[in-house]
Parts: sequence; structure tokens; C-alpha cells
Amino acid sequence: MGLLPRRIGIFGGAFDPPHRAHRALLEAALTELKLDALHVVPTGQAWHKPHQLSAPAHRLAMLQLALAELPQIVVDTQEMDRTGPSYTIDTLRRITVCVPGADLFLIMGADQAAALTTWRAWQEIVQLATICVADRADLASATGVFDAEKMFPQRFFHLTMAPLRLSATRIRSLISHGQSVQTLVSEPVARYIAAHHLYQTV
Ligand code: ATP
Repeated sequence: MGLLPRRIGIFGGAFDPPHRAHRALLEAALTELKLDALHVVPTGQAWHKPHQLSAPAHRLAMLQLALAELPQIVVDTQEMDRTGPSYTIDTLRRITVCVPGADLFLIMGADQAAALTTWRAWQEIVQLATICVADRADLASATGVFDAEKMFPQRFFHLTMAPLRLSATRIRSLISHGQSVQTLVSEPVARYIAAHHLYQTV
């Protein structure tokens, strides 16, 4: 029996903290894309984030709590394990080497899709992976057809997940103002944040 190329999803992020929209996006991707495996890749050093990220150990611990009981998930720490800024192209190349012949699906929210043409080697990214986009209700700037999509429409796929008005920035801000985020993150993540006094200042 020949080996079929596997369908592998890749979902990167700071996950500072991981929240309900991340989980909804992962669930939509698993169902719609019929993935054999979904690599969730917490960023090491984000080159495009304005704020200082929480320690990798905290983000990793919260991610593991947030992903509990989701099938096919592989928490892939390669970006945290590398030194220097994290670039998606390096991550994709590495997965291509590890699983030759796999079909890759790079999953992202619309804000990231809108900025894709600023990413290192973005044209190679678009060749290596189908770009699977979830709309964001919380960011008006990230709607419509993206520059990269205009150039390579056949390499884009839109997930049908209902947009959620939710971001890690908002969660950090609520916590720093002493407000509850119980409905925005999973219960174990909320407990972790409280136990470690995370995000008390913005
Ligand atoms: P921050 O507010 O700190 O920038 P974030 O909420 O955007 O964080 P990230 O960890 O940076 O979360 O996001 C990881 C991925 O999840 C990105 O591709 C991002 O676009 C996507 N994402 C985050 N929130 C949503 C949302 N509400 N709807 C759709 N996609 C989302």
C-alpha cells in the first residue's frame, strides 16, 4: 500500500494568553480541512509584536491547558527552541523536511493574512502551504481580499468559522484593570493566569 501524503495544519501565535478564539479556529480547521495532524507553534521571539511577550514557559503551559482534549494536536516548540526571531518560513521548511510529501495548511486570522506580504520569504510560504484564513470581527482593518491573495488566489482558503470579537491584547488589558476574563479563556487557563499573577500591568 502506498503512503498518502499527510494533511498537516500549522498554526502559529504568541498565545499570550491562548483564548477561546484560538480554540474555535483550531476546531474549525480540524473539521474543515480534515487534517491528520495540526502543529500549534508558539513563537519564540516575535519580530512583529510591539509588546514584550510573557516567558516561553508560561505561554507553553497555558497552551497545553488550552488545547486539552483537542484531537490531532502537536504542540511544536521548534520556534521557542531556536535562538533569534521566529520566522514562519523556517518552520515550514523544517516540517517539509521532516514529513516529505505532506500537504501543508498554514492557518491564521485575517490580521495576519493582511500582513502576509511583509513576512520573510512570503512568496515561498504561499508556495509551500495553502493559506487558510479565519475572519476577525475585532479588527476592521483586516477584511476584504488580501494583497497576497490577489496575487495567488488559488493558494487561499477561507474557513467558515463565525468571527469572534476577542484578542489576547484585550484579555491582557482587562486583567490589568482587575476585570474578569472567565468567559474569554478556558477555566484552567484563567486559574493559571491568576496563580502566576500574569498580566497585572500592561
Ligand atoms: P495579540 O492581541 O497579543 O496580538 P492575538 O489575540 O491576535 O494576540 P495571537 O497569539 O497573536 O493572538 O494569534 C495567533 C493566531 O490566532 C493569529 O493568526 C491570529 O490572527 C489568530 N487569532 C487571534 N484571535 C483571533 C480571532 N478573534 N479571530 C480569528 N483569528 C484570531
